[in-house]
Amino acid sequence: MSKIEIVVLGTASMIPTKERNLTSIFLNYKDKGFLFDCGEGTQRQMKIAGIKANRINYIFISHWHGDHVLGLPGLLQTLGNSDYNKTLHIFGPKGTKEYLKHMLKGFIFDTKIDMKIIDIKNNNVFENNEFIINAEELSHSVPCLGYSFIEKDTRKMIEEKLKKYNIKGINIGKLQRGEKIKINDKIINPEEVSIVEKGIKISFIFDTEMCSNAEKIAENADILFCEATYHSELEEKGIQYKHMTAKNAALIASKNNVKKLILSHFSGRYKTTEELQKEAEDIFPNTQCAFDLMKIKL
Ligand SMILES: [Zn+2]
Ligand SMILES: [Zn+2]
Repeated sequence: MSKIEIVVLGTASMIPTKERNLTSIFLNYKDKGFLFDCGEGTQRQMKIAGIKANRINYIFISHWHGDHVLGLPGLLQTLGNSDYNKTLHIFGPKGTKEYLKHMLKGFIFDTKIDMKIIDIKNNNVFENNEFIINAEELSHSVPCLGYSFIEKDTRKMIEEKLKKYNIKGINIGKLQRGEKIKINDKIINPEEVSIVEKGIKISFIFDTEMCSNAEKIAENADILFCEATYHSELEEKGIQYKHMTAKNAALIASKNNVKKLILSHFSGRYKTTEELQKEAEDIFPNTQCAFDLMKIKL
């Protein structure tokens, strides 16, 4: 099984189309499931993709425009009726607690699960010994956040070297933590017996106009998911509604050492994404337009 698996559950903006559901991306890292946004219809897309709802540990909301959150009540109801026995963490911009409270008051919601709802105040949203989730404020018509999943670097021991110096037990643990050790009066630095494997960074830029924080999110990402609502022919609309063009997204990727760019959140006027792809590709060749149920394994 791959360490990281990503499924794009929806690629539409504003309204669903026959080909595109509304925004949601599922990311699986080892035994943890992350859902970024939960547009209307997300549950059905998950079913089609074979993702069980109880795999979700964390939900990250970018902002409270309907096209990014209207799938939430249904999903929470399903979890409430299932054998979900974890604590579901829901993170979002300022106001998330309040919006969610009102949303759940709107219908009979009596099968509750253990939920922790967090209004994000700091950039460092969440951290454990394996990964960090970062958030940055974007520039949209309402408070909106972009996120990065940053896997921590890991140190892999070189077996032959361990044998050569006869390193065992707690000394291996010390080296793993980046500490030096002493064996028979010889100091051994972790660099001599191990290699550092760089962690993977996956970034998500949701609804925004061009802004410096979008660049921060993108910086050094292995994969950048970025909204590209319009072609630059409609740049005026982008400015008016605070959305990006495919060209904007490509410029961000090319300026910030991104390895791969994946465009999404397409206006319903684009029946195919060819022209958006072409526009971005001219600036940043390693671009792909997302499609519903697209899977990526790393
Ligand atoms: Zn949107
Ligand atoms: Zn929006």
